[in-house]
Amino acid sequence: MPEFRQDPVIGRWVIISVERARRPGNFIDPINRRRRDDDQACDLCVKPENPVYTLGDICVVRSRQPSATSGQQTSIPDGQNGLYEVIKDVGIHETVIETPDHVSNMADLPVGRIREIVQTYVARFNEIEQNTRLTHALIYKNYGLSQFAHHACSHVMAMPVASLEISEKLSGAQKYFRDHRRCVYCDLIEREIKDKKRIVVETDDFLAVIPFAARFLFETWVIPKKHHADFAQGIRGHEEGLARIFKIVLQKIKNGLDDTAYNWVIQTAPFRRQDVARGKWRTIDVDYHWHVELIPRLTRMAGFEKGSGFYICAIPPEEMAEYLRDKEI
Ligand SMILES: [Zn+2]
Ligand SMILES: [Zn+2]
Repeated sequence: MPEFRQDPVIGRWVIISVERARRPGNFIDPINRRRRDDDQACDLCVKPENPVYTLGDICVVRSRQPSATSGQQTSIPDGQNGLYEVIKDVGIHETVIETPDHVSNMADLPVGRIREIVQTYVARFNEIEQNTRLTHALIYKNYGLSQFAHHACSHVMAMPVASLEISEKLSGAQKYFRDHRRCVYCDLIEREIKDKKRIVVETDDFLAVIPFAARFLFETWVIPKKHHADFAQGIRGHEEGLARIFKIVLQKIKNGLDDTAYNWVIQTAPFRRQDVARGKWRTIDVDYHWHVELIPRLTRMAGFEKGSGFYICAIPPEEMAEYLRDKEI
């Protein structure tokens, strides 16, 4: 019988369907097979002319930036004021070119290089935060699917609004704190260390786990043991630690899942000056906990999942964790 599991942060139910279970190693989607062999000219192999930031030979280029008048929120004048809201012309998108060499998977970069990439993210966050029109920033990576996926790069995106998914997470963590006076992620770390069975890797300062209610095959969360709401502040002194656990997890996924495509996102608290003023995120420093969510792209979302909002995961999280835990790197 399928088992319903609830995500403790946002309350989302996931169906762990043992009937649909397949053996690890037998779940690679053919969409992942197409990408690797095409070797057309690579834009990112060319040193960029006007990087907005460099650290060693890591280069950051900006592909979108807000204009001077951007960020005004208006209602579309349709007689129903407030129904359709628009924010014009705002947002920053930067690409972090992680190496001048044509290496595609971050898993293949040395730990020292990954540490410098993490330091680059922090530097970009600190600068972007100065722009008061932007309230939220994300760092993410798509490996293996997009047109630039052949050359290791990641993205920093800053926006005037938070996505629904981020808002759900922030509100869920806030609600958990109201009910328990504790951070849900700190509780989750404690529980996972006690249970052990969903841990992929544990290091001194980080934990990589398959979440209890995983939505996707081999979805992995990398959570710092030290509580902090903000990535850019919480990471201080742990840049090397994040680089190390990243390297291990990415190599396990590469070796164990046939070099699958994946994406990851660093989930951090918003730049919250405006909201703090209104009291919306009053407890955010204690209730939210930055972390990384990594999703291998092994299956397409089925119509049922899109329409119903229920995710079906074909392998129990404990089995996925065991498989990756045992995978050589
Ligand atoms: Zn290249
Ligand atoms: Zn915490």
